[in-house]
Amino acid sequence: MTVIVERKRSRPPTQVLRLEELYVDIEDPMMKDARRDENGLELHVTDSAHDFKHLLHILYDGFEYMKSVKPMEFCDLASAARLAHKYSIFSILNQCLEHLEAFFPSTIDDWDKHESLRAPSSRSFSPQNAIEAVILLRSLPPTGPAGAMLPAAYYLAAQLPSIVISTGARRVDGTLETLAQPDLDHVYALQKELVVDAVDAHSAVYKGVPEGCKAGLFRSCRAGLERAEKDFRRAAVHGDPLGDALRLEIVGLAGDKYRVCGPCIAALWKREGESRKKIWDKLHEGPRRGEQPADSGKAAGGKAK
Ligand SMILES: [Zn+2]
Repeated sequence: MTVIVERKRSRPPTQVLRLEELYVDIEDPMMKDARRDENGLELHVTDSAHDFKHLLHILYDGFEYMKSVKPMEFCDLASAARLAHKYSIFSILNQCLEHLEAFFPSTIDDWDKHESLRAPSSRSFSPQNAIEAVILLRSLPPTGPAGAMLPAAYYLAAQLPSIVISTGARRVDGTLETLAQPDLDHVYALQKELVVDAVDAHSAVYKGVPEGCKAGLFRSCRAGLERAEKDFRRAAVHGDPLGDALRLEIVGLAGDKYRVCGPCIAALWKREGESRKKIWDKLHEGPRRGEQPADSGKAAGGKAK
């Protein structure tokens, strides 16, 4: 089948799909506005060219095309998922969700495994993509994989500056997306909770000299830990307790400045892991967000750059 997509200069920008009648279910409600001419069927849609490009690439070439061009990017997967959902192409939607799980994992092990995808240097994800992710995942059935991915997406949205959370973020095609009020409320509440969680994790890690300390005669882990606790206390309000801030601190404690012994470092590492696990579990407990559909995160159509 051939699908030709043409961009029309109109407001809001629309695409014209030219379809071969032979391959289209003309009874489909989506086709009610299609016009027929000598070239086949013509259908005007408001989906962006970027969204269509990735859906069609996957339809024609499968997911392999993404790997061949560049690392798999969030915005391309989100585009294809958005349209696959809209046009009920479930096989593609499910495959997109499988790939998107790397960005928004449902287990803490996977969260750690895919840390580099979310790192500032990542070419596949930029922090403000979290807004688009929340809106996309909220539009999908909450009982499916999207529901399990939402807590991680909310967490990443809560890492954004308040101004971005409130005014929204632009998709790569220029469409401005803003969170619906229930999601805004949730992200702001989460942001406050995570600041408290990060401070609590800091306290838990530095709480006393671990059993099994082997500092020996000429150094004191107690003094080193107390000093580090004080030095890092102010920075502990970062609100990203699932990030690597505490782990980086712990690694540094072995150096000349704090001179904490190996067994203590190992014990602090364990404390940090337990704190993160607790925070992760709290993020996933309670009624699943999204069981009441938000009045959709609304894509502010027509604001393309
Ligand atoms: Zn020690």
